[in-house]
Amino acid sequence: MNSLISEERPLLEVKGLTKYYPFKIGPFSKKTGYVRAVDGLSFSVHKGETLGIVGESGCGKSTAGQLILQLQEPTAGEVWFDQRKLTGLGGKELRKVRADLQMIFQDPYASLNPRMKIKDAIAEPLLIHGLTDGAKLRSRIIELLETVGLSEHHLNRYPHEFSGGQRQRIGIARALALNPKLIICDEAVSALDVSIQAQILNLLKKLQKEYGLTYIFIAHGLASVKFVSEKIAVMYLGKIVELAQRDELFARPKHPYTKSLLSAIPVSHPRETKERIILQGDLPSPANPPGGCSFHTRCSFVQDICRKEAPAFQQHTDKHGVACHFPL
Ligand code: ADP
Ligand code: MG
Repeated sequence: MNSLISEERPLLEVKGLTKYYPFKIGPFSKKTGYVRAVDGLSFSVHKGETLGIVGESGCGKSTAGQLILQLQEPTAGEVWFDQRKLTGLGGKELRKVRADLQMIFQDPYASLNPRMKIKDAIAEPLLIHGLTDGAKLRSRIIELLETVGLSEHHLNRYPHEFSGGQRQRIGIARALALNPKLIICDEAVSALDVSIQAQILNLLKKLQKEYGLTYIFIAHGLASVKFVSEKIAVMYLGKIVELAQRDELFARPKHPYTKSLLSAIPVSHPRETKERIILQGDLPSPANPPGGCSFHTRCSFVQDICRKEAPAFQQHTDKHGVACHFPL
């Protein structure tokens, strides 16, 4: 377990979480192959904290989010939330916990019904959970709109009348409707312009402080993750290769993959120079991951053992763990 710092029991604990998707190898073959989308994730998040998860597209971030929310059944592993085991929970009990766990998606446009007014979109989760008194419902919707920087004027508008940033605010209002404890932000700002990204990230931070929210913040690059996360997990082909406290990860990356992700962040000043590490080759398929260390095909420091043996995740300090035979 990659737990950092606090003594108190974490709000969320993920233990060996795994999702393999079976597929037929060929039309005439009886053999089954597996896409190893998520391959043994373990981490924990304390109340009020933000864990960032980064990694290239296809490394299993969204699948991990869905497994935590119990939107998919894991192949193996456990999810504990608020000291209760969520995996295996069903029916009514799961529905009750669901209100505490919400998700914000990359493109709220896709999750908003284009023919539904904003007031109805935000009312939906409230109605499902039994808030049916018309006046109370209306005032709660206005309160939620104001919380995310919109107002009563927007109640009767349709999704297409909003900008991308405003639509993301609506997505956040919907996620907040049931007073959740944990929100998974899956590429929540990735599709927005940089200036709008900053506004949404600031809003998320403000809401976290006000409501004591806990976040899992998923993105494919480190720039936005850095701004909001206390600790960061770096994923590669379904596994966490490095997990560290934020400043520690940026100051002393131990995994060559993390180092390459860091070197991809644009420099903030024209005179600043940075050694750019370009990864060799393409991301291998999670249906056929390389043996040994799954990063070895793209690593500039590869040795014999890396091709044969998968490195175990090891805690170097209480703030920093890495899975590499030759950490930097
Ligand atoms: P990310 O969010 O990091 O881009 P995903 O979690 O979406 O990655 O996907 C991880 C891997 O699992 C990808 O190779 C993807 O193609 C595969 N995958 C995701 N969902 C399914 C599914 N329902 N069936 C088969 N493969 C899937
Ligand atoms: Mg994704």
